[in-house]
Amino acid sequence: MQDNRDRDASAMRRDAGPRWQEATRAVHAGPRPAGQGGLVNPPVDRASTIIYATVEAYMDRHKGLYDEVIYGLYGTRTSFALAEAVSALEGGFAAVVTASGTSAIALTLAAFAGQGDHLLVADCVYGPTRRFVTEVLARFGVEVEFFGAGIGADIAALCRPNTRMIYMETPGSHTFDMIDVPAIAQVARSRGILTAVDNSWATPLFFRPLAHGVDISIASATKYLSGHSDCLLGTMTAASETVYRQLKDAAARWGNCASPDDCYLVHRGIRTLDARLERHQRTAATLVDWFARQPEVTAIRYPAHPDDPGHAIWKRDFTGATGLFGVWLDGLNDEETRAFFNPMTLFQLGSSWGGFESLAVPAWPAPVRDCPGDEPQGALIRIHAGLEAPADLVADLEAAFARVRALRGARP
Ligand SMILES: *Cc1c(COP(=O)(O)O)cnc(C)c1O
Repeated sequence: MQDNRDRDASAMRRDAGPRWQEATRAVHAGPRPAGQGGLVNPPVDRASTIIYATVEAYMDRHKGLYDEVIYGLYGTRTSFALAEAVSALEGGFAAVVTASGTSAIALTLAAFAGQGDHLLVADCVYGPTRRFVTEVLARFGVEVEFFGAGIGADIAALCRPNTRMIYMETPGSHTFDMIDVPAIAQVARSRGILTAVDNSWATPLFFRPLAHGVDISIASATKYLSGHSDCLLGTMTAASETVYRQLKDAAARWGNCASPDDCYLVHRGIRTLDARLERHQRTAATLVDWFARQPEVTAIRYPAHPDDPGHAIWKRDFTGATGLFGVWLDGLNDEETRAFFNPMTLFQLGSSWGGFESLAVPAWPAPVRDCPGDEPQGALIRIHAGLEAPADLVADLEAAFARVRALRGARP
């Protein structure tokens, strides 16, 4: 058929892949140039209609839904190349690419949860994930229950005969709670419950949920995989063929696909992912150390930091940390908030992290939690450490703190 991916090279790669270190995988995962007519990067295929040479091939076309190019919506050489690279990084059976991280989350949940099912969802999930389960799935008769991030193997007490899936995100959005994924996956497996993890923060270079017994690893590829703040894309990587087919069916039924340009850009972004993450990680560590020395800072959440409540889990399961973390100050009034953020020169106000640029945003009111834990109180500032020179970023922060101190000093 139209699919000219290099199957021999692919078979060879399945042997060679696991022996490669992450940096090598990031550079070489996916179809090899030999399978793309020698091109280093995949072609950008714009396609809806696919033409078949014979009536026999046309009548048989749906047999190719899962891994061949049969209709633009179901995948092109560009999206398959990206899916293959992502799956190799995640250590999965195969991956599906979608229009956004949010759609990958929605499709993962909608592919499995239906009328009468019970769904366990980590309390610390990304806000739109929470809204999808409470506003959309609840409307379709799915019963949703949130669990605290620290639950571990005690999740067994919440499992019911109709529990269909346990959905996690680690570290959690805003509060950076670490979840004991292996413990929860083990409980789920023993009961035939599916598990999914939103792995956007760590990327498969620093955490591989499937290796810990999880069925589906999700990424907002909009973030680090793309890395340049210019495209939206999501990925769902399945541990098994059965799960992969259900995810692929869900994407087809709900009519979801990613644009060829965005697939191309994310594929390109993956090639430099290891180098970028090394810098994000190093700069984040520098900034965290700097914040820890400021008297106004009451708490920091960055799992790689030895004082973080989730540090032990991070150290056991993860191989690195990225550039996003939370800093709590002893409260900022409106005037101090404006003085802190508005004149900043390098840190910009923007939510979607994972790009090359540094971001600092106020994160209050505090995120919604059904099962509050030991989240720090006060004013939460979420920082994304970009690729700028660390010293320049520190200077920007020093100036911001100086402006707040000046206001406080001037107060009678
Ligand atoms: C941004 C984000 C998403 C959503 O990704 P989009 O591509 O913006 O839809 C999902 N999960 C997490 C943890 C995120 O930070």
